[in-house]
Amino acid sequence: MAKIFVIAEHRDGKLKKTTFELLGASAAAGNETHAVLLGEGVAELAKELAHYGAQKVHLAENAGLKFYSAEAYCNVIAPLVAAQKPDVILGSHSPTGRDFMPRLAARLNVGLASDCTQLAFDGAKIKVRRPVYSGKATVEVEFLGSGPQMATIRPNALGVPKPDTSKAAETMACAADVGAVKSKVLEVVKGSSARPDVTEASIVVSGGRAMKSAENFKILEEMADVLGAAVGASRAAVDAGFRPHRDQVGQTGKVVAPALYIACGISGAIQHLAGMRTSKCIVAVNTDPEAPIYQIADYGVVGDLFAVVPVLKDEFKKIKEH
Ligand SMILES: Cc1cc2nc3c(=O)[nH]c(=O)nc-3n(C[C@H](O)[C@H](O)[C@H](O)COP(=O)(O)OP(=O)(O)OC[C@H]3O[C@@H](n4cnc5c(N)ncnc54)[C@H](O)[C@@H]3O)c2cc1C
Repeated sequence: MAKIFVIAEHRDGKLKKTTFELLGASAAAGNETHAVLLGEGVAELAKELAHYGAQKVHLAENAGLKFYSAEAYCNVIAPLVAAQKPDVILGSHSPTGRDFMPRLAARLNVGLASDCTQLAFDGAKIKVRRPVYSGKATVEVEFLGSGPQMATIRPNALGVPKPDTSKAAETMACAADVGAVKSKVLEVVKGSSARPDVTEASIVVSGGRAMKSAENFKILEEMADVLGAAVGASRAAVDAGFRPHRDQVGQTGKVVAPALYIACGISGAIQHLAGMRTSKCIVAVNTDPEAPIYQIADYGVVGDLFAVVPVLKDEFKKIKEH
């Protein structure tokens, strides 16, 4: 059994699904599972952390923690780790985790395995598996030496457990001294889309260069709305100005691992595959039966996306209605 710290992520008063995945995996393996919750006016979230497996919640509340800041988070969490001595610190491989966890690892002078897709516990030790060479291979990583073992886990890689609302956690207030930070977030300007972010959605519908225009993405948005999915894009589509960069999937975009990834008019270049090849089920719609995307697709529709997507959308709608 290990003592595990899970860094809780939240936005707009709601915890992120990725935090539940980490808590669930730790608790299911019988570990002593602690959540670390920072923010302002977030104490209520401790209850939900317990439902997903947290036995203890370390709570730091301060106006200086209202918005996420790597510096402030590090200044609060590093002393907590020194005092509590967890065996493992887990964070999500989300934009926040990617920003914060390396800084914390450097502060603690320990190693970090990032973007892991598998996590196994063995006593006080963990073993993780992470993709390398743009996802062409994976390596197993274990930690040597002393100090906490740190890893970021790809969202959707572990699955969200069923919450147990009968569970409660002990909440422990910890020092929320953000220290002398050199930068401060003054305001967060939200994107206009009401759809989920590609990294968090369980279904992603992506379009490539073949979409031909920003307006044509409407057909993908309509299908995404039926499925409750996020809309992603290849770099070619982003470079052509059809979608914003935040939607880009791939090596220089975001890495996604949804339950279902539908690639429409995307050839399947290695840099795109690097961002989506660990999706559980991949569906490709492409006019070219030789397109590389078919080498990793579970299902393929060889055809014109402008004819296929509206039919798919109608069929999904019928299934949803019944
Ligand atoms: C350093 C580097 C980093 C990169 N990072 C990324 C990245 O993060 N993400 C990324 O995506 N790419 C990335 N790329 C670019 C990558 O190499 C490809 O150029 C890009 O993924 C191609 O995008 P695409 O599949 O949309 O376009 P294309 O390769 O042009 O493919 C379009 C596909 O649409 C099909 N098609 C055409 N018409 C239709 C139709 N009517 N219906 C159905 N199918 C149709 C064609 O058969 C073709 O397969 C990177 C490249 C480099 C060098």
